Amino acid sequence: MIIAVDGPTASGKGTIAQALAAHYRLPHLDTGLLYRAVGRQVFLDGGSPDDPGDALAATSFPESLLSDTELRSEAAGGLASRVSVHPAVREALFERQRSFAVQPGGAVLDGRDIGTVIAPDAEVKLFVTASVEARALRRWKEMQLRGEPHTLAEIEADLRRRDERDRTRAEAPLKAAKDAVILDTSELNREESIAAAIALVEAKLRG
Ligand code: C5P
Repeated sequence: MIIAVDGPTASGKGTIAQALAAHYRLPHLDTGLLYRAVGRQVFLDGGSPDDPGDALAATSFPESLLSDTELRSEAAGGLASRVSVHPAVREALFERQRSFAVQPGGAVLDGRDIGTVIAPDAEVKLFVTASVEARALRRWKEMQLRGEPHTLAEIEADLRRRDERDRTRAEAPLKAAKDAVILDTSELNREESIAAAIALVEAKLRG
């Protein structure tokens, strides 16, 4: 079974995808991390995330970069959002995501275009969303824990910018697949979000 979990930044999709993977004993791929690694690699190379050539070159980042905690920073998220607009970057990362999705036994993947591009054949598609205010507050708390001193207003402005870029890009924009189930986590805590997601998967599997 392939479970696709898409949605904007800080919607709770990562937490939900991880919990679904544990619940159904499936491997999980956080595809945002791949784009973050490309963004970080461009930075390390001294290139520009807006230059398609620099961004494409950075898709051959070393595997060890994926465990760099710096990838979770606000800066890496912003760079990821910029490199992800280039079609050549998306194409270069496609095969890795597709083979993960179709591995025997199934998988859970979270990102922006899993249900629409990477695994349109997924048995279950969730589109996890939440209000900008709720997402900004979550991201702000996360950054406080990381020791990144951003204000809530800065985080909210950055989220709006990234949402806009992700939704309006020509290639694989952030949008719910036609057959996705929408889960709004604005009013839900972590446990409630996970329980709601499992209930939606169960309902989908029962047909
Ligand atoms: O989910 P996360 O915040 O880690 O993603 C960082 C950025 O990577 C997103 O803002 C988006 O631009 C890009 N991304 C994407 N497609 C995916 C996953 C992430 O374009 N499947």
